[in-house]
Amino acid sequence: MSVTAVTATRENELLEQVPQGLLIGGEWRDSSSGAVFNVEDPATGKTLRSLADATPEDGVAALDAAVAAQSDWAGTAPRERGEILRRAFELVTRRAEDFALLMTLEMGKPLAEARGEVTYGAEFLRWFSEEAVRTSGRYSVAPDGKSRLLVNKKPVGPCLLITPWNFPLAMATRKIAPAVAAGCTMVLKPANLTPLTSSLFAAVLEEAGLPAGVLNVIHTTDAGGVTGPLIKDSRLRKLSFTGSTPVGRSLLAAASDNVLRTSMELGGNAPFLVFEDADLEAAVNGAMLAKLRNMGEACTAANRFIVHESVADEFATELASRMAAMTPGRGTEEHSKLGPLIDGKSRDKVHDLVSAAQGDGAEIVTGGAPVDGAGYFYQPTVLTNVSRSSRILKEEIFGPVAPIITFATEDEAVTLANDTEYGLVAYVFTRDLNRGLRMGERLDTGMMGLNAGVISNAAAPFGGVKQSGLGREGGSEGIEEYLYTQYIGIADPLAS
Ligand code: NAP
Repeated sequence: MSVTAVTATRENELLEQVPQGLLIGGEWRDSSSGAVFNVEDPATGKTLRSLADATPEDGVAALDAAVAAQSDWAGTAPRERGEILRRAFELVTRRAEDFALLMTLEMGKPLAEARGEVTYGAEFLRWFSEEAVRTSGRYSVAPDGKSRLLVNKKPVGPCLLITPWNFPLAMATRKIAPAVAAGCTMVLKPANLTPLTSSLFAAVLEEAGLPAGVLNVIHTTDAGGVTGPLIKDSRLRKLSFTGSTPVGRSLLAAASDNVLRTSMELGGNAPFLVFEDADLEAAVNGAMLAKLRNMGEACTAANRFIVHESVADEFATELASRMAAMTPGRGTEEHSKLGPLIDGKSRDKVHDLVSAAQGDGAEIVTGGAPVDGAGYFYQPTVLTNVSRSSRILKEEIFGPVAPIITFATEDEAVTLANDTEYGLVAYVFTRDLNRGLRMGERLDTGMMGLNAGVISNAAAPFGGVKQSGLGREGGSEGIEEYLYTQYIGIADPLAS
């Protein structure tokens, strides 16, 4: 991947390439109200670009377009859909530096991490370009031999896709690619804090040959007002949401009126377990990734470090020294290892959790405060002696803060790890393979990293249990979320 030096001119040229309008039925349109909203750089607080602010009427127009395109789109050959995705993969890869820079500008993550997201996000396009031609049904003889059973997979129909701000490209491709592969049309509503990447990606999909109306994009500052009528509209057949658990719950309730198919990728509270037999260097390396990737603003971020009492001091000291060395800075600066948090509200929430933990007796080993100056930076922070009843162990931190608690026995570690309403991912560090596999059986999570601090992979089923959500994205499971099973009972063809 070639690296282009980032100058203000380069930033402005890229920002000007982002379409300003809403994509509805193959046209980039102004909002029906004429309103626009500003997208801000969280590292400076300055406006990057203004985009059309969709109204509820625009939302309905986007659904109209998706509904109008559905039948023809479902009738296209799977190979054709796969080839569009493959072309999109090539185009995104060719423009990797543009996508990386755009994400850094609107979301704040350092460029190196944004490049990693481009690779990860593009991989869903390649993976589902291959999966598009692999859906299959079956034909079988009924157990009594008197009839035949034909089982077929069909696209669920028009989908509403709602994505969060923390992974602007990957959260979009993880939904759009399987929906395209399955033959569904879509209305995408990205988060208003980071809509630029989605718009550039939609333009790339057009260039790759995606027909008009298959993907419609509506960015808005009125998420509930614009998506509410769509969720109630009987023409919509599917809602796929990635975001916080409270919003997910309210969308599930709204979706029940219309009995919509739903996929919910919600919040997490990942335990990071370090056993006494762990390779401590590997555990600290894993912790750096699981905690600091995306500045801790990931649903998969390690939220609670649960460390055996015999190695806890050494682990805390080493982690604190590594975290303290992370230089905060605007993500476009190549030396920056830690970008800003997304906004002032998020930073205040992180600081509030740290202060409350301190109030409960926690000790700060490093960090513990916002960084002075422009942008929403927060110091990388390690806390020890954290009270088990502290809020910081119950809520998603979504920031670069590592609270450490200790355990004495494996049973205690499992009890602590499972003591949460969430169940997205857990991380386990041990040299004992049997113990590692046992943890897989005992931990109530949809995913587990064994001696690994990052496990997201387009070829793997990503998703949670408990209040972390429903359904899976990626893997061979990902396309099933956009297909329904139809059964046709056939009279015995040998009988006549
Ligand atoms: P959020 O506040 O729940 O927002 C997510 C999306 O929902 C945004 O597009 C938002 O739009 C929209 N939204 C908010 N209220 C809505 C409503 N009443 N009706 C319809 N849409 C609504 O979450 P976030 O702060 O963007 O993202 C962080 C959360 O996402 C964390 O909890 C994180 O764990 C979770 N997450 C989960 C996964 C996973 O795969 N499990 C992956 C990434 C993130 P606006 O922002 O424009 O208001």
